[in-house]
Amino acid sequence: MSPKKRLGSKKRILEFFLKNLGKVLESKDIQEAAGGAVEWARRVRELRNEEGYQILSHKDRADLKAGQYLLLTVKRVPAFKRDISKETRAWVLERNGYTCQMCGVAAGDPDPLGGSRTVRLTLGHIIDKSKGGDDSPGNLRAVCTNCNEGLQNTAPPKPDQVHLLAQVRRATIADQKAVLEWLIKKFGNDS
Ligand SMILES: [Zn+2]
Repeated sequence: MSPKKRLGSKKRILEFFLKNLGKVLESKDIQEAAGGAVEWARRVRELRNEEGYQILSHKDRADLKAGQYLLLTVKRVPAFKRDISKETRAWVLERNGYTCQMCGVAAGDPDPLGGSRTVRLTLGHIIDKSKGGDDSPGNLRAVCTNCNEGLQNTAPPKPDQVHLLAQVRRATIADQKAVLEWLIKKFGNDS
């Protein structure tokens, strides 16, 4: 997307929020207000994270459902008040192996929701702030932006080792070799 078009959809989303201050907005209406831009969720995130608009989602308020957003005030919050420190961020991502703890994609993988994007990781709260969770490292985990926005319909539970190995044993030799290659690429030959 061209920078100009991107700016356009972000501006339209902001205007839509400002016009509907205090009203719960549905994602389909936000996308429509953005002129149908597929990346509307990313624009909402930028308004919140880069420009400091306090756009609330189901992560912040228990009475909001996934896909609902709410802006209550035009007041913006400066970056230093809302940012988790760079050190904490790096530490949590490292601890989680740069892998989404909900769906298992890794930073730089192709986006499973399609398009030419690659997966981007952000920090999510294990206990949502709406339920009393805080910003301490113990309550943070690496999640991809899709999972964090509730765009991923399913967050399948992690496969347990017995079933995972059974699946691999039943797979074709070609698929087993593909798994092996992926593991070697990920862990190297020395483990
Ligand atoms: Zn994910």
